[in-house]
Amino acid sequence: MLENQGQITRRSFVIGTAGAAGLAGLAAVAPGIAAADPIGHGPISEPAAADVSAAALITFQKIDGTPVYYWRSNRGNTTLRNWQCTQEFYNALVAWIRDLRSLSSGYGSISYLVSAGFYVDKPGQHGAGTAMDLDHVRWSSGTTISPLDQQHASTNAQIRKRYLATEAVCRRRFRYVLDGWYNADHHDHIHSDFGGMPVRVLKDSESDTKFVQAMCNNFRNAGLAIDGVWGTRTESAFNAAKSALGVTGDPHTSSSVWQGMLSKIAQKGFANQNF
Ligand SMILES: [Zn+2]
Repeated sequence: MLENQGQITRRSFVIGTAGAAGLAGLAAVAPGIAAADPIGHGPISEPAAADVSAAALITFQKIDGTPVYYWRSNRGNTTLRNWQCTQEFYNALVAWIRDLRSLSSGYGSISYLVSAGFYVDKPGQHGAGTAMDLDHVRWSSGTTISPLDQQHASTNAQIRKRYLATEAVCRRRFRYVLDGWYNADHHDHIHSDFGGMPVRVLKDSESDTKFVQAMCNNFRNAGLAIDGVWGTRTESAFNAAKSALGVTGDPHTSSSVWQGMLSKIAQKGFANQNF
């Protein structure tokens, strides 16, 4: 999907692990870049400094002190694992988990996260080291949310609200967030990436619109079709939700207004409250 590809038009390749960071200056021009050159001079050579910056990945096992496990090959595994992403993306992950701790503090502290991947050797945001696939969160109270278990489709309304609360926190820090309602590929994880920043809610975004529709249905019994099309019923349901949450300003153009609305959605969701 286009939204999953983000705005990455130039990619660099990293050989090996972070120990090979010195090789990160080896860059290649992504296929198709020549066609995008408006003056037809063929492949674009990037400055060496820009190459290093685009390609440098850091390795981490914890986000701001919270371990991140991998369950895709061994469910319940708690072996620390080396993950990679860019420093800038890691900084956003720190901001994200601090938001999550703060907004879900009623559940206690966050014991661990489970991910399906950050940097992955493939095109798009994962290949750029600027994406996260979130499988599971566990708090010290024993509470969990498990996109891995397709809990967007849980028969338990409290769990669906908790899934949406967790997604709302992702949307505070990442623009392209793809969930179980978005498509079948995302039925078992929440994908977050740096595409399309800054954060805001756009009516012509299928993923944004599906989140809004699922939110209005699960917190306000709006009865909307979750079809990704921002029509008149979605518009009025969204405005009613905004009003009920006491949000003023325009979340379609202002990041701070949208982030504030997302925090309120998250608080309601973690508290299992309608609004
Ligand atoms: Zn992903």
